[in-house]
Amino acid sequence: MDLLLFGPPGAGKGTQAKLLIEELGIPQLSTGDMMRAERASGSDLGKRFAEYMTQGLLVPDELVLELMEKVLSSDAAAKGAIFDGFPRTAPQAEALDAILAKLGRKIDRVVAIEVDLNVIIDRVTGRRVCKSCGQTYHLRYDPPPSDGVCTACGGEIYQRADDTEEKVRTRDSEYQAKTSAVLEHYDAKGVVVRIDGVGELPEVTDRIRAAIASK
Ligand code: ADP
Ligand code: ADP
Ligand code: ZN
Repeated sequence: MDLLLFGPPGAGKGTQAKLLIEELGIPQLSTGDMMRAERASGSDLGKRFAEYMTQGLLVPDELVLELMEKVLSSDAAAKGAIFDGFPRTAPQAEALDAILAKLGRKIDRVVAIEVDLNVIIDRVTGRRVCKSCGQTYHLRYDPPPSDGVCTACGGEIYQRADDTEEKVRTRDSEYQAKTSAVLEHYDAKGVVVRIDGVGELPEVTDRIRAAIASK
């Protein structure tokens, strides 16, 4: 199955993707996590990502697609994937559909996680992330261990430099201007189910399960 978890920054896409990897038996593909790993490696591609990411702006499509084509042509996601944070523009969605079509696949379900901007700001400014595995924590809703060591992998927990209120507002504007078109793209194909993203983590997971099973 190819599942797209869709929603604004801080909607809970990454958190929910990690909760579903095992039961769905397919990996999470997070372009944000991949781009941060590329930056950490010090590569030229990573430096080009940084120019945009540090400002809260979307990375240009051709750079994102270069990264994604590499991943999708590898064995890692041969049986499907949970897409998280990709596609983020209409051209990215069209390119993804074309790549999947070549593999005899398509996006089977888009779960659009709906959360208001005030909740987004509260979530993103309190977010803490593992540098190694991308596991998310929240200062109040899912507190990280006091020693700052990731419970999932032993990695270092930190605060992303773009998780400030100012940058979240910029990222939300980018979302409204460019990413919402992705929803229209998949709405036209009849695969979108919208869910309320506010509630306890397991409640939201249940809504996603129901959305996957529906229709
Ligand atoms: P996204 O991947 O959509 O940007 P994350 O999964 O990283 O969002 O979640 C953003 C922040 O909100 C994280 O700190 C996470 O712990 C927290 N969070 C996620 N889901 C919920 C929820 N249902 N209730 C409260 N906090 C949540
Ligand atoms: P969040 O889910 O909290 O918005 P991500 O980790 O998904 O954060 O993305 C962080 C940043 O990485 C984005 O603000 C953007 O600069 C870049 N990015 C990630 N995925 C994409 C994408 N598919 N297209 C363009 N830019 C992206
Ligand atoms: Zn970790």
